[in-house]
Amino acid sequence: MSTSNTNETLPSFEALRSAGNHARFVRDMSRLFWALNGPLETSIWVLDDEYSPDLGREAYFRQTVAGTSWHPISQLPITRPGVSSITLRVYQLDKWEDDWFEYHDSHANPDDPECVYGSLPDYNSDEDEEGPEHLLECCGAARPRKKRAQLMVRASAEFVTIHDYVSAVHPWLMSLRDDILQAVALFEDRPLPTETKLALNYNGLTYVMVDKEEEWISNRKNAPSWMKLRLDPASMLPASNS
Ligand SMILES: [Zn+2]
Repeated sequence: MSTSNTNETLPSFEALRSAGNHARFVRDMSRLFWALNGPLETSIWVLDDEYSPDLGREAYFRQTVAGTSWHPISQLPITRPGVSSITLRVYQLDKWEDDWFEYHDSHANPDDPECVYGSLPDYNSDEDEEGPEHLLECCGAARPRKKRAQLMVRASAEFVTIHDYVSAVHPWLMSLRDDILQAVALFEDRPLPTETKLALNYNGLTYVMVDKEEEWISNRKNAPSWMKLRLDPASMLPASNS
């Protein structure tokens, strides 16, 4: 079998993984500070040092008299080896309904007029609690039914670049922002205002997590040394031949 990929379609991230060849994201990807508060053009910066978000940074979107462009790292393959597609999900949305149920079921009461019970038309015995009556509304909040979401990012050319990923994922997450904010707020015990600043924890690449911006910054600054060491090996640097 040929090992050259020159004229062949690259495998997807998931196909590589199920074949036992895990693709890892390129080191430069971890320099992104990725806010989820507005359009792509004003939301992403490239940190000089991934663990010093308060120090130097460059805008990912560049505007000069000559025109607009994206930061050069945008063209790097997002993984080594390269892949033709990556499918991702959002941690908080995946867990939202289960977490909501667990939280409210502990205090809900059929005699409480604020608790609404009823049937689930799309009941699934593998995933849902036993019925026939199910908690549909509690503490003024509706059950977040079937909120899991996933997105497949496809390569615009040979392999998925950082920009392919960023330009597909950002508008997708912004369209889900209200839901994500509610899911994040479940653990705050209070609603979060729309203007709450959010940032993306993309370390999982296929399983991303949304943080409050100040938490993202604090997590980076206080990252344990083992994590810094893990990201340092030369094997994670982009190959020099591209
Ligand atoms: Zn409740």
